[in-house]
Amino acid sequence: MNFDYDLIVIGAGSGGVRSARIAAGYGKKVVIFESSEVGGTCVIRGCVPKKLLVYASSFVKTFKSAKAFGWDFPSPKFSWEKLIANKDDEINRLNKIYLSLLSNSGVELVEHHASFIDKNTVVANGKEYTAERILIATGSTPFFPEIKGIEHAVSSNEALSLPTLPKEITVMGAGYIAVEFACIFNSLGVKVNLVYRGDKILRGFDDEVRSFAEEAYIKNGMNIILNSNIIEMKKLSGQYELLLDSDICLKNQDVVLCATGRIANTQNLGLENLNVNLKYNGQIEVDSEQNCGPNSVFAVGDVCNSDNLTPVAIKEGNLLMDRWYDKSNQYIEYGYLPSTVFSQPEIGSCGYTEEQAQEHFGDVKVFTSRFRAMKYAMTDIQDQTFMKLIVQKETDLVVGCHIVGVDAGEMIQGFAVAIKQGISKENLNKCIGIHPTSAEELVTMK
Ligand code: NDP
Repeated sequence: MNFDYDLIVIGAGSGGVRSARIAAGYGKKVVIFESSEVGGTCVIRGCVPKKLLVYASSFVKTFKSAKAFGWDFPSPKFSWEKLIANKDDEINRLNKIYLSLLSNSGVELVEHHASFIDKNTVVANGKEYTAERILIATGSTPFFPEIKGIEHAVSSNEALSLPTLPKEITVMGAGYIAVEFACIFNSLGVKVNLVYRGDKILRGFDDEVRSFAEEAYIKNGMNIILNSNIIEMKKLSGQYELLLDSDICLKNQDVVLCATGRIANTQNLGLENLNVNLKYNGQIEVDSEQNCGPNSVFAVGDVCNSDNLTPVAIKEGNLLMDRWYDKSNQYIEYGYLPSTVFSQPEIGSCGYTEEQAQEHFGDVKVFTSRFRAMKYAMTDIQDQTFMKLIVQKETDLVVGCHIVGVDAGEMIQGFAVAIKQGISKENLNKCIGIHPTSAEELVTMK
């Protein structure tokens, strides 16, 4: 059959753009569809703008500690409006870079929503497009539970661009997005109430890490309300009143941020016209070839993956294009996927938690360390760093590494490389530390 294109990509986020560019680089005729801004969640309303806000809020501790290092200056003043305007400029700049990356690589961009007619055809803005292969890279979107008055809540999308800095905010949930935003606002002097249905925040992380982080957030002034669900939200003269099933009532909330997870963007894609299976959580089911069922339809990234991580989407797309168009036989390996919660303090994590390791490997050796980072030694800041290594007893392999503290994200990346390559504790001990750093602790744990 003759098709208009070799490849249609639906969704110009991290996974879609990378796939389209790589395919075009192999000389393929590619068109990409995007109904919002090119760049997707990560660049436009996720990782990148969030990290800029994290940087902004982290200055507070820097200012606080600077005096101990001999600096003197008048009280610093903060403008949320200026921060948001500068952040928007930066995101616009990145959006333009993404646009030029696409056009420079010869990818055609159609700025409309596309939906399937059949396994080789999509329709967008009334026009039909055909391709030998179609890649779904439509990402995910915030999920709001059914709660009376939930329409008054904002998601992380809006929290990144609030018109003014609120005085008091309630954050619902205690996963990545909830704690990252709670910490940003908390550091900026906003009173933060974090409402979580469970008995300890950050489910899925190592138990000691969860306790350590929770304690640190509370020390930093956050009000964490556990074992509670919001059952009703009321708008009262521009503010919100929240009723919790634990009989607590939170009054005069300026903003309520719902951070209760994300769902795959599969709506209005015309998937009913294809034989595609959805998982229990609404994500598209794919096999190891990223195939969705019909032999011409594939998916990468959040739309089919529970690890909602940009580098995962990029890797899945890139390797798929290499296999199709460059005869590669490389597949993504999901094991020992590192991640960082950009909370304050940060949490860097790779591999098994102690609980998972015990269940998976049986006997494990656990090494932990708690200390005050040198950066704070001369200051009033009492923040501690926590590090934990989990080692399989039988093989001596390091199977888990968890860090809570300053620069945890930067540290975990390097250790994740070693762990992925199968480093043993003995070999880790042979490495020479860099003194004085926090990271050296990880090669000297006894
Ligand atoms: P998470 O799944 O991490 O957290 C969702 C939170 O909401 C959990 O605390 C969950 O509770 C709670 N929750 C879910 N449903 C309800 C409900 N009906 N009522 C009350 N609470 C509820 O999702 P996020 O939205 O924080 O993040 C989505 C994904 O995005 C992450 O899994 C991660 O992969 C990715 N991400 C990664 C980041 C990074 O790498 N730095 C940053 C941001 C996002 P419970 O624990 O009980 O289920």
